[in-house]
Amino acid sequence: MGRRGIIQDKRDNLVKDLKETTLSFKKLGNKYGVSRQRVHAFCTAQGIKRPLRPKGHQTKGCHFCEKLIEISKRLHSEFISIHTIAKETGGSTGKCSYHLRTLRDKGLVSQRFGRLLSKRLEEAYVIYFTKGLPVHIIEQKIGISNFRWLIRRHRELGWNVPPSLCPIRATQGSRFETRDEG
Ligand SMILES: [Zn+2]
Repeated sequence: MGRRGIIQDKRDNLVKDLKETTLSFKKLGNKYGVSRQRVHAFCTAQGIKRPLRPKGHQTKGCHFCEKLIEISKRLHSEFISIHTIAKETGGSTGKCSYHLRTLRDKGLVSQRFGRLLSKRLEEAYVIYFTKGLPVHIIEQKIGISNFRWLIRRHRELGWNVPPSLCPIRATQGSRFETRDEG
């Protein structure tokens, strides 16, 4: 068998790996001693359709997932924004989303954990949960105008937004959050 044959062998194996495994281009590149880009280009040139990776990743033993689960156990964790989660775990929001998707699929965290995208809304909720201020005051403090609407919207979507801590004072009119569903 000449040199050409060996290369052909290599190609055949690579084609087989591309078709039958979900190994990344990078890993295949390492295996065959070529760059990730070359594997990708080869795959495209050959018109090979790669098998789909199994959904999600192995969460057991994943330290990143462990951190996420820890955070998800906190009180009102659904109201922690993805930015804060990223900061605390030391990952990007993209990385968090990736791991969270699997954790949600496996039911290891709440469906709503990590869905809050706005840091400001998180701040508004922190005040809401701890300070007992009227909603319109929170709106002023944080600089958002639709917090009341968002609370209602979240409740409709099944978020567990507890009643406001703000004592209801009838004289202050109906602008307070006074309707808490039973
Ligand atoms: Zn993970």
